[in-house]
Amino acid sequence: RAKSAGRDQMVVFEVGMDGELKTRNTLRVMLRHALETEAFELHYQPLHEAETNALLGFEALLRLQDGEGGYISPGKFIPIAEEMGLTPRIGQWVLNEACRTAANWPQKLSIAVNLSPQQFREDLVTVVESALALSGLAAERLELEITESLFIAEPQSVADQLHRLKALGVRVVMDDFGTGYSSLSYLWKFPFDKLKVDRSCFMSLAESESVGEVLRTISAMSGAMNLRVVAEGIETEMQRSFACQAGYDELQGFLCGRPMPREAAMQYILTANVASERPHEDLP
Ligand code: C2E
Ligand code: MG
Ligand code: MG
Ligand code: MG
Repeated sequence: RAKSAGRDQMVVFEVGMDGELKTRNTLRVMLRHALETEAFELHYQPLHEAETNALLGFEALLRLQDGEGGYISPGKFIPIAEEMGLTPRIGQWVLNEACRTAANWPQKLSIAVNLSPQQFREDLVTVVESALALSGLAAERLELEITESLFIAEPQSVADQLHRLKALGVRVVMDDFGTGYSSLSYLWKFPFDKLKVDRSCFMSLAESESVGEVLRTISAMSGAMNLRVVAEGIETEMQRSFACQAGYDELQGFLCGRPMPREAAMQYILTANVASERPHEDLP
C-alpha cells in the first residue's frame, strides 16, 4: 500500500520531465488499478467470409479507458502490463468478458481472443475451461490468437498446452504472420487451425508486384497445410478484391468494420448477413 502510494506520487513529480517517461508511469498507475476500477473494455471487430461477405464472428480487442471518455490502445499498455506481470489476470478478465458477450449473441458466431505469452506460464487451460463453463459458450466458438513471441521461451510446454486447449474444442490461431521471423517451423510444430496474415503485408501490396506474389503463396501454403487463412487490415476495395482472388478465406479490416463497443457489435449482428453454415461447424 505504502509502496504503491509512493509510486502514485512519482507521477506528479515527473510532470514536466520527458513526456514518454511520464506517460509510462501514468500508465503503470492506471494499470495497477484498472481491474478494480473497471477501466478495461472490450471492443469487437468483425471477420467476414471472403467469398460471400457473410459475418463469421468478431475479434475481441482490449481498450483501457483514459478517464476522459477516450481509450488507450493495447499497443501502448500491453507491453507495460507484461512487464508488471499483470497480463495473466487481465487476460483472464478478457476471456471471461469475451465469452460472456459471445454467449449472448443471437447467432452462433465465433469470438477470437488474443493471448499474451505470460498466460502460458499460469494455468491457461483451467482459465479457458472456466471461462467456457461460466459463460456457457460452446468451445467450438472460441478462437485463441497467439503470436510467435510465445515460442521463443518454452516451446514444449506451449505445445502441450495448445494440444490440451484443442482437446477442449477450442481453435488456435497464429496471429501477425509476416512480421518478425514468421518461421515456417512454427506452423509444422504447433497445432494451428488458422493463420492471420499481418496487416503490414496488405499495406505493402500497392508497392510492388512481388508482395502480391508472396501473399498468394502464403494463401496457397495455408491451403496445403489445411489452415484457414485470414487477411488482416483490409482497408481498400483493391486490397479486398486481391485477397479474395488470392484465396484468403476470411477478411478483417476497416473496410469490413472497425472495432466497436459491445452494444454496437450487437446491432451489427442484428443487421448483418450471417453465414448459414459456419466453416468449423462440421469439425470434431
Ligand atoms: P492484433 O491482434 O493483430 O489485432 C489487430 C489490430 O489491427 C487491432 O489493433 C485492430 O484495431 C487493428 N486493425 C484492424 N483492421 C485494421 C485496418 O484495416 N487498418 C488498420 N490500420 N488497423 C486495423 P488494436 O486494437 O490497437 O490492437 C493491437 C494489438 O494489441 C493486437 O493486434 C493484439 O496483438 C494486442 N491486443 C489487443 N487486445 C488484446 C488482449 O486482450 N490481450 C493481449 N494479450 N493482446 C491484445
Ligand atoms: Mg489478434
Ligand atoms: Mg492480428
Ligand atoms: Mg496484427
